[in-house]
Amino acid sequence: MLKMKPKCETCSTALPHEAEAFICSYECTFCQTCSENTQYICPNCDGELVRRPTRMRGVLDVATTQLKRKILG
Ligand SMILES: [Zn+2]
Ligand SMILES: [Zn+2]
Repeated sequence: MLKMKPKCETCSTALPHEAEAFICSYECTFCQTCSENTQYICPNCDGELVRRPTRMRGVLDVATTQLKRKILG
């Protein structure tokens, strides 16, 4: 499960859930400025940085939606 990290790993800028942030596949988290500085490459693992979803839905919520889709077609 994706964890939401509250700050940039490079400059420690606070990154609340609704803030623009970038993550790699290992969930390293960076602010937009630091991501631009590294050309959207994670400095920790050389992975590609992608935009973090601004609002994560709970696991249960997602499961419920998937189930509803299955039942209702
Ligand atoms: Zn930063
Ligand atoms: Zn990384």
